[in-house]
Formats: sequence, structure tokens, C-alpha cells
Amino acid sequence: MNPELKNNPLLQEWNTPFNTPPFQIIEISHYLPAVEEAVKLAEKEIKLITDNPDAPTFNNTIAALDSAGEKLGRISSVLFNLNSAETNKQLQEAAQKVSPVLTRFSNDITLNTKLFERIVKIFEKKDTAGYSTEEKILIERKYRNFMLGGAGLKEHERERFRAISEELSTLALKFDENVLEETNSWVLHLTERTELEGLPENLTETAAKEAVGREKEGWIFTLHYPSYVPFMQYSEKRLLREKMLRAYSSRAYRENEYDNRNIVLKIVNLRLEIAKMLGYRNFAEMVLGDRMADTPEKVEKFLEELYTASKPAAFRDLNTIKHFASENGQKELLERWDWAYYSEKLKKKLYDIDDEILKPYFSLEKVETAIFGLATRLYGLRFTANRNIPVYHPEVKTYEVYDNDDTFLAILYVDYHPRPGKSGGAWMTSYRDQKKEKNKDIRPLISIVANFTRPSESRPSLLSFNELTTFLHEFGHSLHGMLTKCTYESLSGTNVARDFVELPSQFMENYAYEKEWLDTFAMHYLTGEKLPEELIVKIKEAAAYNEGYACYRQLSFGFLDMAWHSLENNTDNDIADFENKVMAKTELFPHVDGLNMSAAFGHIFGGGYAAGYYGYKWAEVLDADAFQYFKETGIFNNKTAESFRKNILEKGGTEEPASLYKNFRGRDPSIDALLKRSGL
Ligand SMILES: [Zn+2]
Repeated sequence: MNPELKNNPLLQEWNTPFNTPPFQIIEISHYLPAVEEAVKLAEKEIKLITDNPDAPTFNNTIAALDSAGEKLGRISSVLFNLNSAETNKQLQEAAQKVSPVLTRFSNDITLNTKLFERIVKIFEKKDTAGYSTEEKILIERKYRNFMLGGAGLKEHERERFRAISEELSTLALKFDENVLEETNSWVLHLTERTELEGLPENLTETAAKEAVGREKEGWIFTLHYPSYVPFMQYSEKRLLREKMLRAYSSRAYRENEYDNRNIVLKIVNLRLEIAKMLGYRNFAEMVLGDRMADTPEKVEKFLEELYTASKPAAFRDLNTIKHFASENGQKELLERWDWAYYSEKLKKKLYDIDDEILKPYFSLEKVETAIFGLATRLYGLRFTANRNIPVYHPEVKTYEVYDNDDTFLAILYVDYHPRPGKSGGAWMTSYRDQKKEKNKDIRPLISIVANFTRPSESRPSLLSFNELTTFLHEFGHSLHGMLTKCTYESLSGTNVARDFVELPSQFMENYAYEKEWLDTFAMHYLTGEKLPEELIVKIKEAAAYNEGYACYRQLSFGFLDMAWHSLENNTDNDIADFENKVMAKTELFPHVDGLNMSAAFGHIFGGGYAAGYYGYKWAEVLDADAFQYFKETGIFNNKTAESFRKNILEKGGTEEPASLYKNFRGRDPSIDALLKRSGL
């Protein structure tokens, strides 16, 4: 190693407390050379596997592959975690330079025939060689990754496979670009003050600034969420609402150069071609193979079950709003551009709780203590602040987390407030995942990053209710990451099926609605007064408000997603005809020509939710059903908590999620608890 690499802290042993990343001595110029060196090391490790003269075994191939590239993983997690939490131009450039190196490396692995042949030999004997469940799942997972990467294809097929994969990623990018372009290019430009009726002041202020920025008089409203959503909720001008909705719902469906209809057809057909090459009936079957809902039939059955169950509530919500609209003087039929407006008006009338009323009861300091305290009460965990662990920003705090018998579990980083270099939203991530190395338990380094309201000179950081549930959510993911007790890194912690991973997080959100827990900490930061009971009731009721309608809407997207990805033959259908047929059963409003969902359905055509949109509702069913068990036995019941911990939080992906769930619950999940919680 040349001296420069030798002095690169990313490549050295981390002699820090708990071997945490030595942030204070890492420089941006260290990343690229460290990654390149770590790739070389990983390639050597892979070569040791493929050159091994011994017959392939679980240990010399599967386990060895799982632990190969450890340094590389460690370095890239520091880089990409910081690129989200504390970035700048130079760091972004470093990440952009590193990304193709990593892609090339992972492609080289998937296309390594010698390696794949060894995996196949082990895979063929997976049911007869006496492997444990964890080992069997790891074998299946590795085999599947290689197969989906095209490793099992013949040489001439591989070329086509690569071409399709590349075309699909280009099409997905183009799809998103078109939607963005269409979102940006259309604006509603108003010049008369009377046209602003009903709109909140902060919205019109932003619209006025938008106009100034474009050197225009008056106000400009856009199709971006922060402008579009409140406009639809508050504008009293029905014709303007209609105009906005028509523009929003026809994005990338306007017969111009940004039209996505051909791209949708191309993506659908190419995905089908890939699925068929790999031996599946359709794309959904291919994608769902490693999910908890592991066949298209299971997903369809699930969606249908919820559809039937939520139908009465959806129509009840619709009729309530129709009635309310006519009471408020609307003579015309209720159209889709009326929904948000009347729905918001009625909500305000029924439950007038805004954030400013609740915030004083949720000071961040108290909330943190209460959430850690919840983990203590449920699982006996202990959190000790440690100021000697290096951090990447002075605002980041670190905790040592101990189990009820004082064994060390994990390091938890928390980074609460927005900064210019931080991405929006909140997330849980890790700098090191748990695994066992030569019987030594390597414990994880977990991090929660958020954008909670900052403290000001006059008041401490006070969280909105939404921020409270966000904290609980990310903390739930963290528990999954911290309590895990697995052997192999790629199965530990949150490395579970996509439709299972939100169970621990959404489960925790339930506590925000429980008086028994709120009473332990939700006190006014100035007066010490407890959060009044009638507010808690209102919060609960407001959460279930129009849930029938909302559920129906989510289901309609789920049906549409599954329909596109369950096709078994190529299609050149008109995408509107196809969509209208699929969505007819969940349609609540009169038909409007020229609107289309598919052309702007970025989740499934631009992003990674293809044949996965159902997962939102699936996870809700699981978390409601799991929490129902706690409600029946006591929300702090230690036996129930112990079972949740042993069967779910500790297990990662080492068993099939369906059996993990059953071991915890004693039966399969049922939709009943969600129906009850949502008032359906
Ligand atoms: Zn989540």
C-alpha cells in the first residue's frame, strides 16, 4: 500500500470508542482512493472463493461471499450517510465519482460465472444438506440475486438482458424527467385579488414571491405539492380548482414531447420480457418472489379483501361530503376537484386542532426521554449518553444502548434538526450492521436523522404531532436494527422483505394515540399542564377522518400497479382504456376525459415500487394487527413485548416473515384491527 493509502483513516482500523467512524479525521479527498482500494481488497476476497480447490460449501462460498467487501461496505456507508445528513458540493462530487465504481463492482460479482456455479451447486442441495433455516434463506437470497441479475442466462440471452436493463433504467429516468417537466411548466397565474378567496395568507405570500421571481404581476400557483395541495383544500373558486386539478391529473399525458404514454407501454413490455426470460409468468411474480406476500394471487386477494371491507366506509365518506357540500350551497354534482375543499372544511369544523395547540406539549427533550423510556418499559433497554464518540456535526448526540442484563447492544446516533446540508424528511440508517464473526457478536451502529423544529431563543424545540409520530417511526426501525441477533450481515436488522420492514416502525407510531403513554410525558412546557383528554380524543378521531375514502384511493393505485405488472402478453392498448377499466371499481366521481394516473405514476414507473404499491396497506394491516395484540394484553405488557422482540425484532430476515409473524401473533395477520382503527 502506498503511504498515502496507509494514512487514509477510512482504510485503517478505527481505534475509536466502539470502533465508530473517526469523523473528525476523515477528509473528502479520502473517499475515492479508499473505495478503489477497498474494491481491490474485495475482489481478492472473491477470488479466494472462486479459486478454492475444495468443493463449494456453505461456509467457503455463501458465508464467505456475505462477509466479502466488509471494508468497502464500511466506507460507502460513511460516505452515503453523510451525503444525506451533512453534505456539500465536494462531498456530492465524491459520491458521484464513487457510485459507478460500486456499480461496476457489483455487476462484476453477478456476472462472475465461477462464483455463480459454486452457488448453484449449493442451491441444488439446499433442501437435503441439513442447513438451518437461516442458512437456507441466505442461500436462496444469494441465488435469487444472481438469477435476477441475469447470471443464469445463456450467453446470447445475456446480451439482450443487459440491453433491456439499460433501456429500462433510461426509460425510468425519462419518465420522471417528463413528469417533473410537466409539473414545472404549468402554472396558474392570477392577477385579481378576488380570485384568491379562501386561500391562507402564507400560500398567497409564496405565490406572490413566485410571481416576482418570474417577473410577473399578481400570484403564481404551481403543481408542486406545497402549492397544489393547499390550493385544492382552500380555494373557494370552483372553476380554478377544476383548472388546477385537470392540469395536475393530465401531467405527461398531453400529446407533447413530454408525453409518457408510450414510455409506460415500453416499460411494461420490457419488464414482462425480462420476467419471461427469467422463467416467470409476469413481472409481478418475479418481483414478489421474496416478499411476505410472495405471489400476485396473494396480493390480489389481499387488495380484494380490503376493497370489499372498505367499500361501505368509502361511500359513507363520499355521501357525508356530498351532503356537507350541498348544505354549503353547492348545487352541482360533487366532482373530484371539490373533494379536498369540502373535506378540509368539514375536518376543520369537526376537529379544530392545529399544530400550534399541540406543540407546547411535545418538547423534544421530553419526547426523547419518553421514547427511550418506552423501550425501557417494553424491553428493559438502557440508554447512556457518551460524549467521547466522534460525530460529524456538533449537534449529533450519541448513546450507548444496553440490554436488560447489561450486555452492550448498540450505539445510537441522533441528529434532530434541519441544516443546509441535510436532505428533507427523516430516516434511520446504520454505519455498521450486526453480524457474528468467528463467534464474536459485532454490534451495530444505528443512526436517526430528522428535520425537527429547531429551538429558538424564546422556546425549546417543540414537536408537531406529525413529528412525534415520525420520531416513533424511525425509533421503531432503530429497535429493529439494534435488537437484532443474527449471524449474517445481509439478513440482520432491517434487512428483511420490503413489505415487512415497516412493521416495527409503524407499530411504534400507535403509541402516539395512547393516553396511557401520553400521560407519562405530554405536559405543557410552560405550565406543566397535562395534554387534555379531549385533545387526545380529537387527535384519534381526526386520524380516522375520511379513512374509508383514503383507503379506497390507495387500493385503486394498488390495483392499477398490479394490473400493469400482471400482464402476461405484450400490450399496445391505449393506456387510458386500460386504466379506466382497472380503476372503474374504485371510482367515486363522474368520469372526466383527458385525465390519467399511469402517465405520472412515478412510484411504479420511475421509482422502485413496481408490483409493490400494495405494500403501504399491507404494512398498515400488520402494524394494526400487532398493536391490537398489545391493546388486548396491555400496551406495556412485558410478555407480549418479549414475544414481539424474540420473534420479530431480533430475527431480521433469518426466517420467512409470515412465520415470524405467526410465531408472535399465534395466527396469520387479519385486516380486522386496521378496519377498526380506521373506523371502517
Ligand atoms: Zn419507515
